Amino acid sequence: MAATTAVATLREGGTAAEMREEAMAAGGGARPADAGAAGAVPVAAAPAVRLAGLRKSYGQVAAVAGVDLQIAEGEFFTMLGPSGSGKTTLLRLIAGFERPDAGSVELGGTDVTRDPPYARDVNTVFQDYALFPHMSVLENVEYGLRVRRVAKADRRRRVQQALEMVRLTGFSGRKPIQLSGGQRQRVALARAIVNEPEVLLLDEPLGALDLKLRQEMQVELKRIQREVGITFIYVTHDQEEALTMSDRLAVFNQGSVEQVGTPIDVYEHPASEFVAGFIGISNVLERGGRHITIRPEKIRLLADGEQAPPGSHVESGRIEDVVYLGMLTRYVIALAEGGTLTAVRQNMETAAAEALGARGRAVSVAWRDEQTYEVKGESRASAAALAAPAAPDDPATGPG
Ligand code: ADP
Ligand code: MG
Repeated sequence: MAATTAVATLREGGTAAEMREEAMAAGGGARPADAGAAGAVPVAAAPAVRLAGLRKSYGQVAAVAGVDLQIAEGEFFTMLGPSGSGKTTLLRLIAGFERPDAGSVELGGTDVTRDPPYARDVNTVFQDYALFPHMSVLENVEYGLRVRRVAKADRRRRVQQALEMVRLTGFSGRKPIQLSGGQRQRVALARAIVNEPEVLLLDEPLGALDLKLRQEMQVELKRIQREVGITFIYVTHDQEEALTMSDRLAVFNQGSVEQVGTPIDVYEHPASEFVAGFIGISNVLERGGRHITIRPEKIRLLADGEQAPPGSHVESGRIEDVVYLGMLTRYVIALAEGGTLTAVRQNMETAAAEALGARGRAVSVAWRDEQTYEVKGESRASAAALAAPAAPDDPATGPG
């Protein structure tokens, strides 16, 4: 229902981000205590998903170790983390395939923690797509509607719309085996969006595709999400994917959220060494008892005799390694004051051969202080393990 409203609003020219800002401005994400008490209209400002104190262990393993998150309606939200960090378990808790040991799951302001999967207004797109091999594209896509006994004419219309949305018009008679990997991916997506769920959960949906197709599908997925206005919760271990597609992302480590923020927040201001290392290249130095991080593209390599720009911090070092990456060249520099930095340079002026010849050379590097960012030395997960049971308020959770 809200997804339909979102589509209508989007057609009038608003973006999902604008709508979210409006929703947030209207209610700050908080629900008035008496909302619904008089059977009044539902409060639009309730987040699409609210997770509170969510925990799930398998034996000794805390797969989800206390997660609090709020995801706004219409948001493209990504859970990013290494393999085994609890992303799939968290999605399964939201979908209702697993029951939490503690905590709650709310969808659109309603507590669904005890509800079975079919009673929740969410759909999941699995990594292996799970298409029915004996059914045609049309039958696969309309399956959910048949189960819900939607009338045939309505069903066909909605299937056609969904196939249009994923650009598969004309493929409705084919069987999954007659499709490419990317087309199967689109069918899986159409099969989920045809049900118009409030929330779509996607578990590494592009994992099986090769790089080029994956990059195309990233753009497609983002377009589709913008057009249908459904809240997407997207799981990936691929940082580039997360940065490209998300409105906001949560970085996971060992079942806990290390940081929540926009791609720019998380990339430019990583809250912990773990985040700094997982997103982008880890450039963490210890200077004066502080751990600072600086992104590779902000570091300037000074040519012989070149003056550093005024106000910048200069250190000397030696180029340990040079990697030619086509568009860029990556330099690994061991610094005299201790630590190693990776810097990248666009291959605009430098010829490849010249760049590769730089290995072993002494070099000066420069950066501006405002381009460095102080990070906590350890990750939130390991800090929590050490500080239990009474962990102090941890600024590492960052904005959000
Ligand atoms: P991710 O999706 O981030 O790779 P998972 O949520 O699949 O992580 O797994 C988190 C942790 O929980 C891992 O250590 C994994 O081995 C464990 N785990 C997940 N599901 C089960 C299960 N059904 N039984 C036992 N351990 C599990
Ligand atoms: Mg997983």
